[in-house]
Amino acid sequence: MPDTALTNSPIVAAYRQKTPGSEALSRRAQASFPSGITHDSRHLEPYGVYIDRAEGALKWDVDDNRYIDYFGGHGALILGHNHPVVAEAVQAAYAKGTHFGASHALEVEWAEQVRKMAPCAEKVRFTSSGTEATLMAVRLARAYTKRPKIIRFRTHFHGWNDHMAPGQANHYDGTATAGVLDGVAAGVTLVDPNDREGVEAALATGEIAGVILEPTGSSTGMIPSAPGFLEFLREATQAAGALLIFDEVVTGFRVAPGGAQEDSGVTPDLATYAKIIAGGLPGGAVAGKAEIFDLLDFEKARAGGFEKIGHQGTYNANPVAAAAGLAALRLIAAGGVCDKANAYGDSLRAGLNDALRDAGLKWAAYGEHSAVHIFTNPEGRDIGPDDFDPLALPFMELKNNAPGAAQKLRLAMLLNGVDFNGWPGGTISAAHEDEHLAETLTAFRSALDLLRSEGVI
Ligand code: PMP
Repeated sequence: MPDTALTNSPIVAAYRQKTPGSEALSRRAQASFPSGITHDSRHLEPYGVYIDRAEGALKWDVDDNRYIDYFGGHGALILGHNHPVVAEAVQAAYAKGTHFGASHALEVEWAEQVRKMAPCAEKVRFTSSGTEATLMAVRLARAYTKRPKIIRFRTHFHGWNDHMAPGQANHYDGTATAGVLDGVAAGVTLVDPNDREGVEAALATGEIAGVILEPTGSSTGMIPSAPGFLEFLREATQAAGALLIFDEVVTGFRVAPGGAQEDSGVTPDLATYAKIIAGGLPGGAVAGKAEIFDLLDFEKARAGGFEKIGHQGTYNANPVAAAAGLAALRLIAAGGVCDKANAYGDSLRAGLNDALRDAGLKWAAYGEHSAVHIFTNPEGRDIGPDDFDPLALPFMELKNNAPGAAQKLRLAMLLNGVDFNGWPGGTISAAHEDEHLAETLTAFRSALDLLRSEGVI
């Protein structure tokens, strides 16, 4: 049955008119991919845009429409698209070969750069993605502590491996999601974000190998970590003999050159990385205390008489990804990159809140660093952009949206030349300049007008 919210919508009609090339590709894609897409976050009704090329803070779709980009390669592109220094490093590496089936100099330099920047990184192991990195981190934690269970926080995202699925977007009771074994789900103890008693009770069982979290909070701060919570976790895990694992897949090299651990001053035992660490190419890593990495070491295992954890991965430390990652990290370490993106974040949040106030809307733009979230107030609470405190709300409310709001806002922003992500919100790069800010804010005001004329707000 056709969705009347889509068929009767002037926003959807205008979007279809603007993006015929994307619509044609999305129809073709339906034959090859479930829902026509290759990543769940690209699910958009009636269809998402198909991008042809990108540069700096901008990207163009197959119909040559230009967008200011806040998807930012899912957070990977703090330097913006095609940074010339990264592009040159990639081309030079590519010209020398894409896979040697052997160790190479760039992986050594890349790891040295990570160790210089990330406070916890005594040792590093590269993976091909963040999902692999978090999988390895929990395996290391279990093997190191010889304990069975991991604490995760409801709604926090750590990739799609089996340990990370229940309780992220559903199954908040911890039961197994489709295709995940009950035994695997039972090895994860879910606790509400910022729930100190929940953590303490779980640690008191003596079964907890480690606690993993997005350090700035679920979805890069959509449900922020409460002040003092990281310090609490550091002390509580240490006292209980469990490992603290920061999932810095998004926050690493973004909130500060040394990530959330530098920003907060709390050093975890292990940290997981992807995205920025590989400069916009596929890649990830686990980093942390040297002693924990002995579990991956042939010689240490033999000498110590313990079982080594096996770890392969065809594309671990791939030379092209290593070149991109090393170039990106050096630029970030040189300074100015994170600060610039963070300052733009402050201005963007303030400008969005000005627009919400002018529109008389009880929504709020919030977030920290270079991430922005728009709270669309699904329960119709009496809040406003000026005094919005996300920690004062039940955490699930921050994940929900007013009916139709996120989807229609996304389409209305695309119509106005801005690609916000579906939270709604986005991540910012150091390639975002003042003129992009002004254009984004004008687009947001126009988008709100469209939403109002369609009765969404
Ligand atoms: N952890 C966090 C915090 C993430 O945001 C993501 C990806 N969005 C992942 C892990 C998984 O990384 P990947 O997509 O590279 O597997």
